[in-house]
Amino acid sequence: MFDRKRKPGSRAAEALRLVSVSKVYGTGDGAVTALDGVTLSLPRGSFTAVMGPSGSGKSTLLQCAAGLDRPDRGQVVVDGEEMSGGEAALTKFRRDRIGFVFQQYNLLPTLTVEENTALPLRLAGRKADRGSIRAVLTQVGLGERLGHLPDELSGGQRQRVAIARALVTRPGVIFADEPTGALDTRSAREVLGLLKETVRLHGSTVVLVTHDPVAASYADSVLFLADGRLAGHLPAPTAEAVAERMTHLGDRAAERRADNGPLMEV
Ligand code: ADP
Repeated sequence: MFDRKRKPGSRAAEALRLVSVSKVYGTGDGAVTALDGVTLSLPRGSFTAVMGPSGSGKSTLLQCAAGLDRPDRGQVVVDGEEMSGGEAALTKFRRDRIGFVFQQYNLLPTLTVEENTALPLRLAGRKADRGSIRAVLTQVGLGERLGHLPDELSGGQRQRVAIARALVTRPGVIFADEPTGALDTRSAREVLGLLKETVRLHGSTVVLVTHDPVAASYADSVLFLADGRLAGHLPAPTAEAVAERMTHLGDRAAERRADNGPLMEV
């Protein structure tokens, strides 16, 4: 059985487990199976990229695994605790166990770097100790920017605040959804390098959803999705190997849709 009493901070060896997770949008003829029985297990301290053609279910996987949406079937276990209960329980679950980094940073414009970083702790009713907030901001290279507002920072720096904000609660899993989508190449590399370092040095677990093979190559391994199912796994990825796999996945997904007729078109 899963340990329901596990406190954030005491860690399970398995950071994320999905068991037969399925999600269907709509009903009848218009129903779309976005996830079709996905089972996976990610150890603590791993950095995994999730890739797949457009419409393969990446966003749905992230939404279900991060507790932003509920699967129709299956089980999601984060850091040893199964996601369950009503809306309030789900919100608490997310606050305690999950960190988010989005493409658009989602920082509050009127709060300073330090206040934005402390926000998840305050929302969770946990003590926002200044020393540890500053330590996290120093870790992401923003120790000198504590009092600045988001407007006064570059895109790369804003994303580093978002990473600090995700780290500060010491979540079981950090989900990063196209975190470099709005950044120039150099800032993108810095942000990806920072995520990698976070995993190496601090044992965080990161799941990166991306369509970019270069971004995926920063991960320890890549999971491929096609038509809502896991369609392969690539350890120690290079950008070239990821791009190559993606080309073939695209071919196979198109072939399957052609076989299934126009109703399956996405
Ligand atoms: P990806 O992130 O890989 O592009 P998504 O998870 O967004 O894929 O979508 C998977 C499938 O589910 C697609 O066919 C998409 O059109 C469908 N889908 C996603 N969200 C919805 C929704 N809210 N309503 C209906 N269909 C949806």
